[in-house]
Amino acid sequence: MKFNIALLKGDGIGPEIIDSTTQVLDKIGAKFGHQFDYAEYLAGGCAIDATGIPLPEETLAGCLASDSVLLGAVGGPKWDTLPGHLRPERALLGLRAALGLYTNLRPARLYPALAAASPLRADIVARGFDILIIRELTGGIYFGDRGRREGPNGPEAYDTEAYSVMEVERIARVAFESARLRGKHVTSIDKANVLESSRLWREVVHEVAKDYPDVTVIDMLVDNAAMQLVRNPQQFDVVVTSNMFGDILSDEASQITGSIGLLPSASLGSTKRGMYEPIHGSAPDIAGQGLANPIATILSAAMMLRYSFGLETEAKAMEDAVDNVLNAGHRTADILGGAAQRPLSTSEITELILLEI
Ligand code: NAD
Repeated sequence: MKFNIALLKGDGIGPEIIDSTTQVLDKIGAKFGHQFDYAEYLAGGCAIDATGIPLPEETLAGCLASDSVLLGAVGGPKWDTLPGHLRPERALLGLRAALGLYTNLRPARLYPALAAASPLRADIVARGFDILIIRELTGGIYFGDRGRREGPNGPEAYDTEAYSVMEVERIARVAFESARLRGKHVTSIDKANVLESSRLWREVVHEVAKDYPDVTVIDMLVDNAAMQLVRNPQQFDVVVTSNMFGDILSDEASQITGSIGLLPSASLGSTKRGMYEPIHGSAPDIAGQGLANPIATILSAAMMLRYSFGLETEAKAMEDAVDNVLNAGHRTADILGGAAQRPLSTSEITELILLEI
């Protein structure tokens, strides 16, 4: 099969980690008989330097014409003083809106070989964990009515959490479909003891659940979920939640893995086209030095194969290659954890992953 991928290398370490990832994709393509064609576009700081804006029209058009978008990272100190609408991060918001990406998938997986990097106690992480957090990305309080007004106690500010049945139903379906590819268990997180929007969320999730009798579902209040994540992360398989709860819980879940350079993400909409990117930023402190860990981006590309291209075997082959390299003890500087060995460079670890494939 043949796929067109829009590459947004972005800033800082973005170009280095994307270059590693296309090498890995090409190796997978050669092994399984697929062709990946790349078209590069500017986004973020590099786009500001070249065109004056973070998301040029040409980039948007190129992404809309692609089968999927692979993004490195955007931003850096050079652009930090620009006004809000001209900041590099605006490119991400613009792309999410234009591509209609209402689902954010963030796996948080603790590799047993890297358990020492987790801030959790050794006995809690000894068995590893593998959680897929599914966050609703275009609704809820981040998009609801907001403002300032005169209240009974003087000036006040307000934000509104609102969810439609349609918004909850479509994200719930993503959760149940994803659970079918994994441990077949969904934890739906809300605050239904207080919020009416959460009560609707809960009703709709259970309505959708009827179409997935092979998947179990439980509800959990968000305060309890925050606690359970650090107490017993193994109990979670797929977690589905609203925009704000997902924002907070996905950061908590990624932190307890202890390895930001390993974590991928996917943003999906109602078409097969998605946007795939590592969860880390552009790491300007190490840019251009060959020190960046490319694994989060490589695993993001594996998610692209799975969710946008339907290539499960190929996605698994990429993930297994990464697992084997890590299990064999190979480390980049960010995951060295004080071990007395020379950290591998970006190209050295990429080479080992290519060999595994
Ligand atoms: P960061 O994730 O870029 O870096 C945090 C620390 O982790 C740094 O010490 C960095 O060297 C290290 N690190 C991150 N990724 C790594 C990798 N792959 N390999 C090895 N080490 C890695 O976060 P930050 O320093 O807060 O932000 C830097 C810039 O990135 C800012 O301009 C910020 O706005 C931007 N940012 C962009 C995105 C994105 O593009 N999605 C996300 C977060 C931050």
